[in-house]
Amino acid sequence: IAISKSFKLTLFLSLQAKMSKPVQAQRLEGIDKNIWVEFVKLAATYSTVNLGQGFPDFPPPDFLKEAFVRALGGENHMLHQYTRAFGHPPLVKILAQFFGKLLGRDLDPMTDVMVTVGAYQALFCCFQAFVDEGDEVIIIEPFFDCYEPMVKMAGGTPVFVPLRPKAPKDGKLMSSADWQLDPAELASKFSKRTKAIVLNSPNNPLGKVFSRGELELIAALCVKHDILCISDEVYEWLVYDGKEHVRIASLQGMWDRTVIIGSAGKTFSATGWKVGWTVGPSRLLQHLRTVHQNSVYHCATAAQEAVAQGFQRELEHYGKPDSYFVQLAKELQQKRDWLVQSLDAVGMKPIVPEGTYFLVADISEFKSDVPDVPDSEEPYDSRFAKWMVKNKVNASGP
Ligand code: PMP
Repeated sequence: IAISKSFKLTLFLSLQAKMSKPVQAQRLEGIDKNIWVEFVKLAATYSTVNLGQGFPDFPPPDFLKEAFVRALGGENHMLHQYTRAFGHPPLVKILAQFFGKLLGRDLDPMTDVMVTVGAYQALFCCFQAFVDEGDEVIIIEPFFDCYEPMVKMAGGTPVFVPLRPKAPKDGKLMSSADWQLDPAELASKFSKRTKAIVLNSPNNPLGKVFSRGELELIAALCVKHDILCISDEVYEWLVYDGKEHVRIASLQGMWDRTVIIGSAGKTFSATGWKVGWTVGPSRLLQHLRTVHQNSVYHCATAAQEAVAQGFQRELEHYGKPDSYFVQLAKELQQKRDWLVQSLDAVGMKPIVPEGTYFLVADISEFKSDVPDVPDSEEPYDSRFAKWMVKNKVNASGP
């Protein structure tokens, strides 16, 4: 290709010229760091198992994989094309049927359900749709790390309220149920500026499954102050020891103000498919649709088709021993018990999770050779985790 000299010169000059305007939008200030970028890199460098990020090391169930293969290789070539923007019709229909049954209400698949690129995009849509400059959003600590930057990116202010640990009964290991909200402290966080509260039950990272009583407390405050509830329920099927996952949207006065967020990644052990959804009243979801149609717009059709078939299968096996949702929880409960015993045996104090993939352990009394760094800005737990990654890899590791 012939390029004229003058064009070359212009290109050269424009590459040389630095922009004098700030490149970064102000709302990105202070939220450019992400702990997973750092830890995923560390885990790869030292060939350690990354237990921090929530994804399984086993395959999704055969019926789901087969459904995806059928979607890709079957006669219906339209499954390779765009589908309905707010959710592939077979998927929104089965989600409406499934969640309608769980919530005890009739759901309109076209208005009360919207499919997203994983639960992550569902969260993003909620904050963008509901939060204005100056609005406050209550976040319960400890929390899934993206809530805080997403609230800030929408112009809102996160207001934190901690789950506080209560000492376990003599000789017992602490459970995630021992971490509770102080009702007065929670109530004090609601103000005129509060727009929404983020609820994550079962909770990442503690594994806490909020009891009906705790949810009623939150619900009463939401109703009293006319607040929205963004209810992240991606671990809804990963609940152990016969505990019940209560949906806050089913409590009095809550349906109209709650968006339920779910994830096929967590539900069917297929996090790489990135299929998620929101369920809620159209008066709320209509604003999520506005954000969705002006950002992602369509989600992968074949993956949605496969997830639809997965839910169809689960609807038929609902509550039965061969339901995947029943089996998965059983399997993970055994793994949890094994990990709890192992951590306890080496002198860490595991907080026994009632649900999720996660487990938090108290290392305050664990003897280690982590170098002392007086006045370090970095918290001890972060330094400890890095020390483990670098120094306690298996024999063949670096
Ligand atoms: N919410 C919580 C609490 C999570 O732990 C995760 C994933 N780690 C997500 C949402 C995002 O789920 P998805 O992969 O479906 O985007």
